[in-house]
Parts: sequence; structure tokens; C-alpha cells
Amino acid sequence: MRSAMLLLRTAAAVVCLAALSAQLSAKDKPAPAAANKSSGDASVNRPASAAPVDASGWSGQSGSSGDPTMTADAIKLATANFKKCIENEWPEAQRRGVTRATFDAYTAKLTPDLQIMDLLDDQPEFAKPIWEYVDSIVTDERIAQGKAALDQYRETFDAVEKATGVDRSVIAAIWGVETNYGKARDTRPVIRSTATLACIGRRQGYFREEFVTALEILQQGDIAPERFNGNWVGAFGGTQFMPTTYKRFAVDFDNDGKRNIVDSVADMLGSTAKALKAFGWSTGQAWGYEIALPQNFNYFLASGPARTVGRWGGIGVTLVDGKPLPQDKSIAAVLLPAGAEGPAFLALGNYQVLLNYNPAEPYALAVAALSDRLRGGGPFVHTWPHDARMLTAAERFELQDLLLRRGLLFRAPSGRFDQATRYAVQKFQSSNGMTPDGFATATVLERLRM
Ligand code: CA
Repeated sequence: MRSAMLLLRTAAAVVCLAALSAQLSAKDKPAPAAANKSSGDASVNRPASAAPVDASGWSGQSGSSGDPTMTADAIKLATANFKKCIENEWPEAQRRGVTRATFDAYTAKLTPDLQIMDLLDDQPEFAKPIWEYVDSIVTDERIAQGKAALDQYRETFDAVEKATGVDRSVIAAIWGVETNYGKARDTRPVIRSTATLACIGRRQGYFREEFVTALEILQQGDIAPERFNGNWVGAFGGTQFMPTTYKRFAVDFDNDGKRNIVDSVADMLGSTAKALKAFGWSTGQAWGYEIALPQNFNYFLASGPARTVGRWGGIGVTLVDGKPLPQDKSIAAVLLPAGAEGPAFLALGNYQVLLNYNPAEPYALAVAALSDRLRGGGPFVHTWPHDARMLTAAERFELQDLLLRRGLLFRAPSGRFDQATRYAVQKFQSSNGMTPDGFATATVLERLRM
């Protein structure tokens, strides 16, 4: 799931990245992000030809996921069946309290937004390195604008912090990552996007629930229909809630009788904090911090069970400036998002909360880094390994295939890097004189080919 989102995110515009996730994690499992991107399908590339675009804005091409519901013919068939598919949701909508008048008002003239099918299967050829994503988010401009937003809404942040115990810098960072503090305006009607995805393409099961929930939101009238716009997966508001996330966590923080996360900054901030609190936020705890590893660090520990901060200190892990780690019994994990050559972090429980909110490592790290900066902290000390070349989709398959042939991996290549793949890479590195950090770059692939 995590890698699914990651793919999604990297593929999608920065704006819609985060949105997706919140919903997912909150929900069962299809991540919203996952909605956009697919999980294992990093593999295939869309044919590069510039196909004709029909009136709906759709390329008319089969998707790159290889999913049978994403062929051009399947999309056309589902489009022909769109009206019937929407009508099939009426009994469930009625059960949720949606009136026939509301249902008709928002669905009678509804047509699918087929451009979303192109977005759903848009897979990048190269996996974008995590530092490119983090660096694109944590810019001087976004830091300055975040500080200005914290200042402008100081009283609201005071009240939200008091009510929920969630750190304002983190809430502001999520706002900044998701929509650049509301400056990125969504233009797609949520009802249309979720209806499209509920009836066409490979995420229908997940989006049926989002579509019916969007109808519930319109029925309740907290958000004006003409303001109920989101990104192409239907995530809306300054922190990009999916409809089901809204249903679970939205609050009327400004006490005007409506839970309006689109037009009320107070409702949006309060709702975001409520979601983080529900995901387990520990008041007063950091998300984690950058660390330095001892010379002889056993990298297999980084993929092993979490241990207390104190125990990490006991094996020579220090703060990045060499000072000792705090005496802390909190459980923490060592993160090496770019391998041994990149920065290392100790991630505490609140980092996991960010992943619960949106299970994509680049997202969580970008929010964490931006929150540090908004609090007045500095950038990460250790530089990223900018020279490392990430693998192409085809190379990810090849790497897994080579690991399989060497008896280090035990399942068919998927192109998706999960824990098992990382561990297999570690074992290969370890037995070939390389630092076993599990970071699968082109260098590792070249060694495997020998
Ligand atoms: Ca309100």
C-alpha cells in the first residue's frame, strides 16, 4: 500500500499527492493515493504516442496498469453503462438519508470525467528520488508562507492546539504540502470525480463509498455544491480530505453550524488536527530527528524491530551533531530513506501518525521537514546522494528477477519495492562487500548483473 501511494504521489502533481492518502489511511485500505496510482504497476509504460483526445479530454488509450478494467474498450463499455451504474447506488444513498430530490439534482445530468482515466494510470518511467520530492516541498518560499499563515491564524492555531494537543507546525505543514496553504485551488466537482471513479476503471470498489459519502455531504448542506470541488480523486479542502475522511473527522471549529473545510480555515485546521489526534498523536513529542550512525552500524537493525531511543543511544547512535540522544523510553525506528549515503533519522511515534494520515514515506518526511522549519529549526544536515540513479520501471523488475534467481527473493517480480525486496537487497549487498542499506540504486543492479 505504501509503495502504491508513493507511486501515485510521485506521478501525480504535488498538489494532489497528499490528499489521497489521508483518506486511505483513515479508511480501510485502498489508499486514496492508491486510487490514483496503482500499486504494482510501476512496470508498464504508457505508449508514448500522442493519441487523439476525445471531447471528454480522454486520450482514448488503454491505461498502463494492464488492469482489464483499464483497457480502452473496457472504459468505453463502462462509460456507456455510467447512468445505470450511478442509479445502482440509489438504494445505498437512500439508506444513508439522501433524498430522491438530492440524488436527482446531483446525478441526473452527471457525465463522467474521462480525463481521470488517463490520470489514474499515469505512471512515471523513473521513480522520482525522495529528495526531489522533499526539496520541491520544503522551499524558502513555502517556509515563509507557512510562517505567515501561522501568524495570520495565530488565534485559531492556539485554539486548535488547546483542543487537540496537536502541534501547530505539523498542521500548518500538512496544509502547506497539500495545497500550498490553500493557494492551490481545486476545480473538479467532487461528485463528478468520485462518480467517474466509482463506475469506470480499476478503483470502483473504493470510490463507490466515496461517491455515496459525497452525496451525503451534499445532502447535509455544510458545503455549498458550487464550492464542493477537489482534485481528480475527489480530495477537497486545504488539507485534501476524501469524502469519507470528512465524514469521520470534520468538525465545526468556528461554531457557525456548518462543517465547512473548504471555506473555513478554522474548520479545516480543527478537522485536520482531529484526524491526527485520532491517528495517535502524542502531545509534546517530536516526530523524530536527524541522527548520526556509528562507524560499525549494523544496517540490518534498521529493518529490524523498533527499539527505544535509549537503546539506539546504547549502540552509538547520536544526534546529527554528535551529541547524545535524549534519555527516552519512546519506541523509535532508524530511517534511511536514501540509504547509507543519505541522511539518517530516528522516527518516533508521531512520524508513524503522519504515515497513518498518508502512508507515503516522501510525504511524511516532507511534512516532518517542513514542520521543523516552520518551528524555526534548520534544514537536514547530511546531504542527499544526488548522484545516485534510481531504477526505471523495467529495471525494478529486472532487479527483483535477479534477486529471485539468486534465491534471495521468493516471489514473482512485481516492480514494487516492499520490505521483502529491501531485505533481499540487503542480503545481496552484505555478501558482496557493499554496505547493506537495502537502497536499490543502479549500482546495485549493475553488481547483480555480473
Ligand atoms: Ca464551521
